[in-house]
Amino acid sequence: GSLPDEERVQHLLDTAHGRYRGLDEGVVADYIPELGIADPGLFGLAVAGVGGRVFVAGDSSHEISIQSISKAFVFALVCDAIGHDEVWRTVGVNNTGLPFNSVMALELNGGSPMNPMVNAGALATTALAPGATSAAKWKFVHDGLSRFAGRVLELDIAVYESEAANNQRNQAIARLLQSYGRMAFDPLQTTDVYTKQCSLLVSTRDLAVMAATLADGGVNPVTGERVVSAATSRDTLAVMATTGLYEMSGDWLYEIGMPGKSGVSGGIITVSPGKGGMATFSPRLDPAGNSVRGQSATRYLSRALGLNLFASQ
Ligand code: GLU
Repeated sequence: GSLPDEERVQHLLDTAHGRYRGLDEGVVADYIPELGIADPGLFGLAVAGVGGRVFVAGDSSHEISIQSISKAFVFALVCDAIGHDEVWRTVGVNNTGLPFNSVMALELNGGSPMNPMVNAGALATTALAPGATSAAKWKFVHDGLSRFAGRVLELDIAVYESEAANNQRNQAIARLLQSYGRMAFDPLQTTDVYTKQCSLLVSTRDLAVMAATLADGGVNPVTGERVVSAATSRDTLAVMATTGLYEMSGDWLYEIGMPGKSGVSGGIITVSPGKGGMATFSPRLDPAGNSVRGQSATRYLSRALGLNLFASQ
């Protein structure tokens, strides 16, 4: 199968935008002070097909810091570099059922970071990035995320500095991982690379192209460049399906039926393997940290585009 024809995809995106732009539930994240200044009215949608066509609606070119959505792509890059078995052993792939920045999850599981989509697992994953220095690891992460997007991504310095001044909890998680022998690199330098990776600026359109790269077996459908292997894309999508929407990942799979990943700046990506990538952005979040408009728009689009992976027809 493939996506419906182009006019239909564009029409559905416009319809989704019109249907959900008035949804005003949820609150903008402000635990990183710089995120709190986001305009709650922003709402962008984008779909990128594996054939390279990109469809957009609303504020799809507005740039936001990528936040937790980076976790999926850094996992893919690290998995590609060190292998399926190694990341499975050292990071894990099971949902914690607890908030993304939980220390309890680590304590309850003998120091296992559990999965790459919670902060503990994301920090452990970033520590495994190739390179002997923090600069080399950052270059690996920055280059890789840029290849997923198909352009060189820039750092939002204000968001980076704001989070760096307020990320004591992530520093503590990295230290705790180290105490369990689960941190492959210096904990504070790793936290710094992780904070930078979360502060890279992407548009909703960029996010759809990044998602479409995973849909396309690791080849960016716009640039034609292979970013990761097909096996790595498959593994990354499996982890996103079980853990991509924080502790609401089960509800998401039940409603949407596709792997996704959300972030606290209001983005959500969804991947339809072999067909394309979808991205939504709107800053108001539900209590778990998932964009309210984004979830509604994705639910509508996944049904209208016929993308649920569990549907037999
Ligand atoms: N940089 C954020 C943090 O670690 C990412 C949170 C998120 O998007 O879930 O707190």
